[in-house]
Amino acid sequence: MKRKAFFFDRDGIVNVRIMGGYVTRVEEFVFLPDFFEVFRRVKEAGYLAVLITNQQGVGKGIMSEQALHDVHEYMQSGLVRATGFSFDDIFYCPDLASVEYSCRKPSPRMLLNAAERHTIDIEQSWMLGDTLSDARAARAAGVGAILIGDFDSEEGATADHVFPSLGAFLIAMERVLFGAAHDTQKQDGVL
Ligand SMILES: [Mg+2]
Repeated sequence: MKRKAFFFDRDGIVNVRIMGGYVTRVEEFVFLPDFFEVFRRVKEAGYLAVLITNQQGVGKGIMSEQALHDVHEYMQSGLVRATGFSFDDIFYCPDLASVEYSCRKPSPRMLLNAAERHTIDIEQSWMLGDTLSDARAARAAGVGAILIGDFDSEEGATADHVFPSLGAFLIAMERVLFGAAHDTQKQDGVL
């Protein structure tokens, strides 16, 4: 049987994004407080939770793959402590932005690989992110796109829902997840 999944971008959704830099060490990984509640509700609603993250810092040699694994181990144990759940799987793309045919979002490749590995029902699935690349990857994969942040109406049109913050998404979450299928929903606009 196919499972519904919730795909999460990492930086800017799970943890505080370091502008112009990378989270290279556990000490630099700071959870966004509202993420815990979002994550707990997603897991309690029976979704498979999959992290989908571009990590160009690895391709640049700024951090090793081992360092990335250490950060993710720290993230997973922090999630279990705070919510009782952790990500069911993690996909990261270490490619440089300059790589042709990269797995990096906006390519849907990581989402599609996850869908194949876990027999995911794309039509019942969502991707939550904070950049247009996340929304474009979601659209290309065929999952619903939810964006967090400030976007103009043209940018916002790449997503099914746009919320100014994780907190605002939390308030609307039940309606978004248990409302009509994502392809029939309209833009929420900024609350
Ligand atoms: Mg991000």
